[in-house]
Amino acid sequence: MNIHPLPASAFRGEGMTSQRARDRLANSLKESGIRDPRVIEVIRNVPRHHFIDQALHSRAYENTALPIGHGQTISQPWVVARMTEALLEPFDARQGMPQKVLEIGTGSGYQAVVLAALVPQLFTVERIEELLRQARRRFRQLGLSNIRSRHDDGKLGWPDEAPFDAIILTAAGDAIPSQILAQLAPDGVLVAPVGSPSSQTLLRIRGDGKGDFIQEELGAVSFVPLLGGIG
Ligand code: SAH
Repeated sequence: MNIHPLPASAFRGEGMTSQRARDRLANSLKESGIRDPRVIEVIRNVPRHHFIDQALHSRAYENTALPIGHGQTISQPWVVARMTEALLEPFDARQGMPQKVLEIGTGSGYQAVVLAALVPQLFTVERIEELLRQARRRFRQLGLSNIRSRHDDGKLGWPDEAPFDAIILTAAGDAIPSQILAQLAPDGVLVAPVGSPSSQTLLRIRGDGKGDFIQEELGAVSFVPLLGGIG
């Protein structure tokens, strides 16, 4: 299994942040339909309590979205797991992994760390500077050196690093921004919530290698909005 080791400091925790709480979360993901064992192992091992305020630590391993300030949320673990396995699955048929992955909406940094434990290179863009600053501190504390992050409007993607084998959006717009789609490799995979605040669908878009895209709907989700400009 191609999982990068997390340093020992990542595994410290007491009570509700203990390994037992993480095991319970991993089991509940399995029971609710997450099938990729690599994803379940990473979620078991990433210390989600590092990504939220201390006052919420007792709820870190509940399967629920939690506030991270600035009106934003850390996504529900089940949604992180589902999006991650949906992004990796098409690569299984090719017996490979995406090498270069772009995330739009760093937020707490949790989804970025889950991905960075699985793929060689993770790029992430966040429009709110203070959230990005905190996320960067967490990346450093966890000793992850394969994440690059940028303060910018993620609707623009990260043109200098394109193309990406996989792209994940963790905020919902009414459509996938065309500049982001243009940065997907010809046989790349993109996973994103799309729709209005009251009705969003998780979409997976795959390049067919010849310039066309195949689109699938993966179910209803609820994300904060994809906004324009930087905060
Ligand atoms: N992946 C995050 C989820 C955070 S919520 C996590 O694991 O915690 C979505 C994030 O997307 C918010 O932090 C929000 O500020 C950010 N966002 C919204 N629109 C954006 C845009 N245009 N560019 C970059 N980030 C954006």
